[in-house]
Amino acid sequence: MAWFRKEKKPKEAVEKSTAIPEGLWVKCDDCKEIVYRKEVEQNLSVCPKCSYHFRLSARERFSMLFDDAQYKEFATNIKSGDPLEFKDTKRYRDRLKVYEARVGKGDAVLCAEGKLEGVNVVISAMEYAFMGGSMGSVVGEKLTLAAERALDKGEPLIIVSCSGGARMQEGILSLMQMAKISAALARLAEARLPYISVLTDPTTGGVTASYAMLGDLNIAEPKALIGFAGPRVIEQTIRQTLPEGFQRAEFLVEHGMVDLITHRAEMKATLGRFLRCFLAK
Ligand SMILES: [Zn+2]
Repeated sequence: MAWFRKEKKPKEAVEKSTAIPEGLWVKCDDCKEIVYRKEVEQNLSVCPKCSYHFRLSARERFSMLFDDAQYKEFATNIKSGDPLEFKDTKRYRDRLKVYEARVGKGDAVLCAEGKLEGVNVVISAMEYAFMGGSMGSVVGEKLTLAAERALDKGEPLIIVSCSGGARMQEGILSLMQMAKISAALARLAEARLPYISVLTDPTTGGVTASYAMLGDLNIAEPKALIGFAGPRVIEQTIRQTLPEGFQRAEFLVEHGMVDLITHRAEMKATLGRFLRCFLAK
C-alpha cells in the first residue's frame, strides 16, 4: 500500500559517503588534498594533512577500541518486521534486503562485549553504511539489549553514534525507540553504571535528541556534525543566519553541549581513563 503519492518521481537518496572511497589515492572531503590511501588507513582513517576523521564501520570501531581487537558480538539476529508495509520508491522490505546484502545483517548498529584497557565493557557502534545509520525498531531493540547486558553484568556501556536520525520508513515506531533506549539508560544510571556517548560525524535527528546526548560523558570526534534539525530548517524557522561552525563539535563544546573533543588516536586511552575513574570505589 502506498502511503502517499507524488507527481514527480523523487530522486534516489544518495548517501554522501565520507568513508574512505575506493582507489589508491583519496581526496579528503575537508581539505580537498589528494592523499595516499594507505597513509590514511595507517593513520586510523584520519587525513594526515588536516586531521579530518573519515567515517568508520562498526567493526573498525570495535577493533580500535577493544583490547587486541578481541570482542564478542551479541544480539546479531534481529530484523525489522516492516509493520507499516511501507513503500516509497521501493518497498522498505526490499530496501532492507539490499542493505543486508551490501553491508551485512546487523541493521544500523552492532553490539559487542570485551575489554577496553582491561575494563570489561559493552560497546555498541552504529553502522552508517546501513541506511545512513538510521534508528528504527532494530536499533532501538539492540541498544536496549546492550544497556540491559551492561546492567546484568555490572559493566559500563559505550555507544558510538553515527546516524542521520530516526528511520522514516518505520514512522512513529522509530520515534518510540528514543524513549525506549532512554528508559534503558535511566535504569543503567540508577544502578550507577557509567554510560559514555561517543559522537562521530554525523550524529543528528532523533539520535541526538535521545541517547547520543545522555552520556554521563559526551565525547565528540573533531569536526563532527552534531545537531537535531539541519541548519537550513533552523534558518528558515528562526529567520536568522546561523553562526560559523554551527553544529560542529568545536562549537558545541564551546557552548556546553558536548563535554570534550578527542582525536581518534587518543579515543581509547581517554575512554579507559574515564572508565577507571568512574569505576573507582
Ligand atoms: Zn584533509
